[in-house]
Amino acid sequence: MLEIKIEKTTNPKPIPDKDNPLVFGTIFTDHMFEMDYTDGKGWHDPRIVPYHNLELEPSAMVFHYGQEMFEGLKAYKTEDGRILLFRPDKNIERANHSNRRLMIPEIPEDIFMEAIKQVVKIDEAWIPTKEGTSLYIRPFVIATDPFLGVRPSYTYKFMIILSPVGAYYPEGLDPVKIWIEDEYVRAVRGGIGEAKTGGNYVASMASQMKAHEEGYSQVLWLDGVERKYIEEVGAMNIFFKINGTVVTPMLNGSILSGVTRRTCIELCKSWGVPVEERKVSVDELEEAARTGALEEVWGSGTAAVISPVGHLRYEDDVFQIGDGGIGELSQKLYDTVTGIQLGKIEDKFGWTVE
Ligand code: PMP
Repeated sequence: MLEIKIEKTTNPKPIPDKDNPLVFGTIFTDHMFEMDYTDGKGWHDPRIVPYHNLELEPSAMVFHYGQEMFEGLKAYKTEDGRILLFRPDKNIERANHSNRRLMIPEIPEDIFMEAIKQVVKIDEAWIPTKEGTSLYIRPFVIATDPFLGVRPSYTYKFMIILSPVGAYYPEGLDPVKIWIEDEYVRAVRGGIGEAKTGGNYVASMASQMKAHEEGYSQVLWLDGVERKYIEEVGAMNIFFKINGTVVTPMLNGSILSGVTRRTCIELCKSWGVPVEERKVSVDELEEAARTGALEEVWGSGTAAVISPVGHLRYEDDVFQIGDGGIGELSQKLYDTVTGIQLGKIEDKFGWTVE
């Protein structure tokens, strides 16, 4: 494996005060990881350097055709001072899955994992420890060829930046309101919905703003063809508990395969709760809400872990889920996942990496 060179900052920034709330994604640590790709040479020069601005030609391909991939995962500090990553192997696998779809060269898994471990270790002092906080890790790749023709770039830059974060939603674990979008779509089968890339997020913004203006925190996307089946939320996968069974849309090529989604499915199954990965239509949900069969709804994602949904809106219909409070299973999943992430609950599944 390539050796990671380390250049430490001579000008460290102040670490945020423990007592002030952290706003998601606004503060960055002292160091970052960087590695370059050149055609013929492959990935080379892995290094940890002070967090810095980039210098790129305005013609760099990422600015024009969006050839970029990103990931998101978290590091936690346990009470006894260990640093835990949660299922980083799954993020690395997904990154290379995205890379293949986006014609970005795959990143060797060993160097990727080592890069995450070393950069987190260097900025260990930035890992917040207050309840609900963690160090968010953002690996990403950009296409850097100075070229205006449309083709995959021959050169790339892979970086990892770190951000101490608090709750993703200001609501915390309080149930959020979700808007089922019937005008715009996020992704289509055969498109890039399953890849974690900027294009999917810019596609979501117009709708997200519309939902915000109406007092909704996120958008729930429908399939891009019939606009009938549920796909996922802006930055989360979605789960429904209907008559005792946990139901989540099956992965179909346009939905992101969430690490937290996989974790929820595995935990529910281990508890003997039936789980179905299948198509879920809005009609089925409306019917289930009307008859009282829709017991719980929650979103799953790295940022918020579990986000209970109290209220869904589709066209002019609003349906409240359960009593609008936090469902029992949502709470149990949240407590278990965060307990494992923080080393407070035994990690029987071997999900954490020290
Ligand atoms: N769907 C989308 C569109 C997302 O951006 C995310 C966040 N990465 C998720 C689902 C949840 O994935 P994960 O559990 O891996 O964070």
